[in-house]
Amino acid sequence: MEYEVVIGMETHVELDTNSKMFCACSARFFGAEPNVNVCPVCLGMPGALPVINKRAVEFAMMVGLALNCQIARHTFWERKSYWYPDLPKGYQISQYQRPLAYDGWLDVDVRDLSTGNWTEESTRRRIRIRRAHLEEDTGKLTHVGDKSYVDYNRSGVPLLEIVTEPDIRSADEAYAYLSALQQIVRYLGVSTGDMEKGAMRCEPNMSLRPKGSDAFGVKVEIKNLNSLRAVRDAIAYEIRRQTALLERGEAVQQVTLGWDESRGVTVVQREKESAHDYRYFPEPDLPPLEVDDAWLEDVRRRVPELALARQDRYRRDFGLSAYDAVQLTSDRAVAEWFEQVIAAASAADLRARAKAAANWIQTEVFRLMKANGIPNAEIAGIKPSPRQLAELINLVDEQVVNINTARQVFEEMFATGASPRAIVEAKGLAQVSDVDVLRRVVAEVIAAHPGQVQQYRNGQEKVFGFLVGQVMKATKGKGNAQVINQLLREALQP
Ligand code: ADP
Ligand code: MG
Ligand code: ZN
Repeated sequence: MEYEVVIGMETHVELDTNSKMFCACSARFFGAEPNVNVCPVCLGMPGALPVINKRAVEFAMMVGLALNCQIARHTFWERKSYWYPDLPKGYQISQYQRPLAYDGWLDVDVRDLSTGNWTEESTRRRIRIRRAHLEEDTGKLTHVGDKSYVDYNRSGVPLLEIVTEPDIRSADEAYAYLSALQQIVRYLGVSTGDMEKGAMRCEPNMSLRPKGSDAFGVKVEIKNLNSLRAVRDAIAYEIRRQTALLERGEAVQQVTLGWDESRGVTVVQREKESAHDYRYFPEPDLPPLEVDDAWLEDVRRRVPELALARQDRYRRDFGLSAYDAVQLTSDRAVAEWFEQVIAAASAADLRARAKAAANWIQTEVFRLMKANGIPNAEIAGIKPSPRQLAELINLVDEQVVNINTARQVFEEMFATGASPRAIVEAKGLAQVSDVDVLRRVVAEVIAAHPGQVQQYRNGQEKVFGFLVGQVMKATKGKGNAQVINQLLREALQP
């Protein structure tokens, strides 16, 4: 029998606010000494009163809007009670009955990643978002030998939990969904989305069922996944394990699993337990949360055009390949920089401008950034401004410099920030297009290479490239390639 996997994803995203969800303590705990960002509120002292972090609410609304959700205009906070040493209050402030955002969807392009190679083809899938609600993070426990240590710096850091409907149908789709979600929180600037550092944590719920059936099978939940790769590998592993079980006629147990990265297997963390009674009840220390039109509109304006929409636009309006569109939208900063280059370049044809800008960014700009250890997301800080790159593109279009010289000029721009025109003038790099000058050089090259000239006349076309190279060399690389080609062809006519 053929089986189909059904996956619903629960993801926790730590919001990158300055302060915590309900107190003024710093929410930036990475690298801090343990238990320095704490106060009576986030330590759960009796009588301490929480205050809502408005910024965290706005960040959550932005994610909700980016996920095409409805935003609840009236919500409130609830206490989710359970006891654990990393939760000093004995309850977590959360939203249960009325999540801030609900009933949305995220479209993702799913590619076959099994070969490890890029494919232009993809399938667009819509994953429905059930809800996204705000809550607070717990402290962090570290177990060393027979001792356990707790650090409350993370206690009370704003957390957004995003839950999908069970719409994901493969490990590749789960990967595509999570990378799209990660890209969205980064585009919005609301979270680092860093899975390795725990700023984005996800728990796939998955089950198998006979292909064609619409009943749900017994689900397992997988935890401890700290990279996108681990998510994909763990799901693929579970599909194989559960398929083998079902084929032997055995039942899948409803359990919580952990992923053992080094062995590449899942391990049972918890057997099925009776449903938790969290004793949810309204948080008496916080007022309900009202979202009025003006506030919602204000937040809506802060949601930029997202990567997928940009990719579609780049392919449609600029004629870019899927690969180029994905590369140029991978970071919001890169996409914005790219669009600024296009806007400042002067070629009449939009597609030509876009193509040139795309080529420059994906080759020279990224190459030099990489060589200097600058991540793509920091493109706004590099030396040439988008306008300066556009000027350089214009100089190539106007045949003031040839493309090889332009690359040289760009290196100088990257190092010094000088304008391309100034560099061309200072270094005498302007292209030589003067026909008389080039004709003389062509004649000299022909005279100096009688053997190659004979070979060319005997039909060895590739010698032509050698001769072009010699003329280019004689002009110190500044010759106009088009003119040289033409003059050389003429001169070589027998
Ligand atoms: P629980 O109460 O166990 O947390 P929920 O109904 O809240 O379960 O669902 C949690 C996540 O699991 C959601 O993303 C949901 O889409 C998904 N899910 C629910 N049932 C199944 C199933 N049988 N197979 C796969 N995913 C499921
Ligand atoms: Mg759950
Ligand atoms: Zn605090």
